[in-house]
Amino acid sequence: MALKPLDIFKLLPKTNCKECGYPTCLAFAMQIAIGKAELAQCPYVSEEAKKQLASESAPPIKTITVGKNEKINLGGETVLYRHEKTFYNPTGIGVLIREDMKDEEIETEIKNITELKYERVGVVLKSEFIGIMDSGKGKFVEIVEKCFQTGKNLVLISDNLENIKKSIEISKEVKPIVFPSDISDEIVKIVKEFNLPVVVKGENIEEISQKVQKLESSGVSEIILYPENKKISEIFKNLILIRRAAILKKKRELGYPVLTIPAFMTDNYLKEGIYASIFIAKYGSIVLLSKIRGEVLFPLLIERLNIFTDPQRPMTTPEGIYEIGKPDDKSPVFVTTNFSLTYFIVSGEIENSKMSGYLLAQDTEGLSVLTAWAADKFNAETIANLVKKTKIEERLSKKVLIIPGVVAQIYGELEEELPEWKILLGPREAAHIPAFLKNVEF
Ligand code: SF4
Repeated sequence: MALKPLDIFKLLPKTNCKECGYPTCLAFAMQIAIGKAELAQCPYVSEEAKKQLASESAPPIKTITVGKNEKINLGGETVLYRHEKTFYNPTGIGVLIREDMKDEEIETEIKNITELKYERVGVVLKSEFIGIMDSGKGKFVEIVEKCFQTGKNLVLISDNLENIKKSIEISKEVKPIVFPSDISDEIVKIVKEFNLPVVVKGENIEEISQKVQKLESSGVSEIILYPENKKISEIFKNLILIRRAAILKKKRELGYPVLTIPAFMTDNYLKEGIYASIFIAKYGSIVLLSKIRGEVLFPLLIERLNIFTDPQRPMTTPEGIYEIGKPDDKSPVFVTTNFSLTYFIVSGEIENSKMSGYLLAQDTEGLSVLTAWAADKFNAETIANLVKKTKIEERLSKKVLIIPGVVAQIYGELEEELPEWKILLGPREAAHIPAFLKNVEF
C-alpha cells in the first residue's frame, strides 16, 4: 500500500469516536496502512476522502474475483517478495481440457479435479479451475456444460463467438474467464455485458501493455494477462517484468492477474509440474495443467500453501482433540501445541507407532512446545484447562496423558492439576514416540 498512516489520518474525521472498533482515528489509520482494517469501518469518512483513499490505497495489482461456490481472488498482490509482507491470493490450479481429447479422457479429468482433495493443517487443498479449449469439433459447449456442473471456475478458450455466447449463458454464474486469441469489438461487447474477465495475450510486455490500454479505454476493467511463449525462460522473465512494472513502476496497465498454461509448454507431465511450481512461486495467478494427477497436484498444493501463508504468523492447527488411528476408551492421550509443524510431526509419529490414540492440540498461537513453555503459554494449568474444556475423559475408561519430554518441569504440577489422570513423560523428540510406545506400560 502506498499510503502512510499519517496520510490516511489526515483524511479521517479525527473525532476519535471509536465506532470503527479502534480507540483513535490514528490507530485506525495505522491498521488501514498495514491492510488490517478497511475504510468502510468508519461511518463518517467523507465521499471525497473515500475516493482519494480508494484509488491511492488500491493494490498495485487488481483483485479479480471469479467463481460462485469455489470463489477465488486473483491478483491483489502488493509486494515483490513474500518476506516483505505476504502474498495474499493463492494461485488457482486447474486442468486444461481440449475439445479433441477422447470422451474417456475428459471424464477422467473431470472426475479427478472433482475428487482429488487433501486435508492439511485443517485446510482442504484442491484445484479450482478448468480451462476448456475449443478445437472446432462441435463439442465445446457440451464440455463446458459438464465442467460447469463440477462447480469449478472456468476459462473458456475459444474464438468461436457463438460457442462463447452459449457457454457464457450456461456458466455465467461462476463468472467464467473468456480467452479469445484476439480481442474483437464483439468480444468487448460480450465481456462488458456480462461483466466477465477477459484474457489479453502477447509475446512481450510492450504488446500486452498496448492491448490492455486499448481494452481499458473501451471500458473493460477485468483483465487477465497471458504472456505467450513456448519457452519457460521467456515466460518466467515476462512474469517477473510484469510484476516489477506493476509494483515498482506503478504501471497500472500491467497491474492485473496473470494466466500461465504449463500444459502448452511440454509433453512431459513431470516437467509441467516443475513449470507450474515455478509459476506458483513467481507470479502466476492461475496455472493450467494438461491433467490432474495426485503425484503432481499434491506437491503443488503444498507448495502453494507454503508460499501463500503469512510469514509473520506461524501456521496453526485448530485447538481440539484429534483422533489418530481408531482410538477407544483405553487409548492414551498425547498433548502438544497447535504449531502446525509440531502437530504434524507428533501426529505422524503416533501414526507410525501403529498404536491408536488421541492427540490434544493446545492453542499456543502457533508456538512450538519449548517456545510456548518459555512464554508460559504451555504449562500445567493450560494443559489441565484444555483437558477439562475438551471433556476428553468422557471418551475414556483409562485416563493416561502423555506430555512432551521437553517439558518435564511441569510433570509434578500437572499431576496435582489432574489427580485422576496417570501422567506419563513422553520422549524429548517426536521421532522417538514409536519406540516409547513399544516399551511403555499404561
Ligand atoms: Fe475516527 Fe471514524 Fe474511527 Fe470514529 S469511526 S474513531 S471517526 S476513524
